[in-house]
Amino acid sequence: MIARLKWTDDRPHTLVVACSDGRLQEQTDDFLHVQLGLAGFDRFYVPGGGGALASSGRDFIRAQQLRRECAYLIELHEVERVILIFHGPAENGPPGAVCADYRRKLPWASPGLLSDRQRVDALELLDIRSEWARNAEVSAYRCEVGASHEVTFFSLDADRS
Ligand SMILES: [Zn+2]
Repeated sequence: MIARLKWTDDRPHTLVVACSDGRLQEQTDDFLHVQLGLAGFDRFYVPGGGGALASSGRDFIRAQQLRRECAYLIELHEVERVILIFHGPAENGPPGAVCADYRRKLPWASPGLLSDRQRVDALELLDIRSEWARNAEVSAYRCEVGASHEVTFFSLDADRS
């Protein structure tokens, strides 16, 4: 066996929190590498992505545990930047692109309501970031699947100062 890829001692100091949904992994990697220009990053991939850190009015214990896990990782790996990624269909996108973890948390909600909830959760996580992200800079994006299955990433904290 020939080892072609090399290990590096340098830590990336960036942590990405994204959903485990395998339908979006390559698109997410592409966004992080090409659009955000990140060479590497630590991955914290859990069902719900950034949303797993928020209770959404229901999963208080799970969300708290995952925020604690994040805080631990941020300290352990000297993370300076955290990128939270949420996902779901665009307004006219396929309903099947909804995040299964959000569907579980809010089974009665339409894709539009789930999208609204993700925005609220993202802003809440940004508000309480000192509790779980220490001094790291935190940003949030929503990965949206459109009608033709095209994937676009939108900032969820663009209008914040
Ligand atoms: Zn998901």
